[in-house]
Amino acid sequence: MKSPLPDYLQAVLEKARSNENGAPAGYIETLARADPSKMAVALAMVDGKIYSAGDDDVEFSIQSISKAFVYALAIEDAGLDRVMQKIGVEPSGDKFNQLSLEKKTNRPMNPMINAGAITAHALVVGPNSTAEERTDRILKALSKLAGRQLHVDEEVYEAELRDADRNMAIGYMLKAAGIISCDPREVVRGYIRQCAINVNVRDLAMMTATLCNGGVHPLSGEQIIPQLSVRQVLSIMATCGMYDAAGDWLTRVGIPAKSGVAGGIIGALPGQVGIAAFSPNLDERGNSVRGIEICEMLSADMELHMMGIS
Ligand code: GLU
Repeated sequence: MKSPLPDYLQAVLEKARSNENGAPAGYIETLARADPSKMAVALAMVDGKIYSAGDDDVEFSIQSISKAFVYALAIEDAGLDRVMQKIGVEPSGDKFNQLSLEKKTNRPMNPMINAGAITAHALVVGPNSTAEERTDRILKALSKLAGRQLHVDEEVYEAELRDADRNMAIGYMLKAAGIISCDPREVVRGYIRQCAINVNVRDLAMMTATLCNGGVHPLSGEQIIPQLSVRQVLSIMATCGMYDAAGDWLTRVGIPAKSGVAGGIIGALPGQVGIAAFSPNLDERGNSVRGIEICEMLSADMELHMMGIS
């Protein structure tokens, strides 16, 4: 029997289309030029079935969504104890690019704000690794999760690099606080490259389904992310994934999630389904307006809220 899901997903997109609020990220020209009419959704089940609708082959930069996966890689490469020494696990309520550290420990508050994400990037591979080695490891790992070779959007990378003063400042703050020991410019360059990896919603849904499947890739059956990292990443996504709107999101949609400034959002329902939505217009907190609406509809219609209320 034909699955009713593709038609349902199309109907969800049509409902979300009427919401024209927000605007694409404006801090670099390449993102500001994004076509706001683009919109897509994909669901990847833990058994590997994938359903999508809309502009599901349109690529956009992964941006902050990469933070969730790179945190998992940092745990794998450096070990959870070392990662915990360097990065906290508390929601900050701050802007994502806030220059802030925990008062008592000097650690970045969590791996989803830039300070924590830049630290996680620095922990990938090993202490003396180069930016090339780290980004190579990250690109390979994300490609494996997506099930196809991904590429860096060089235009986005160059544009972000030209406008990197704030992230560079965060890098120097981390160095001064003893959180990272290598050249902060190299680390920030690598972090910016990680954010400029292009994906579409089908890639993101499959990557997320691997998190939902205890780190085992639904198609290859390979344990790509260790279980301990999966638990850690999903917990952080639940509490810190939606910039400073994490509480709002958890109460309304009720699943661990992460969004990025190019308009992507992933949502992970453990044991069941990885969700990805995309549309470039963002709200004032930096989350995709239609992406949120799509996820809210899915959560309500399919009763996905983790606390059982939809
Ligand atoms: N490259 C962006 C930055 O770090 C990512 C921002 C985001 O998606 O939140 O400024």
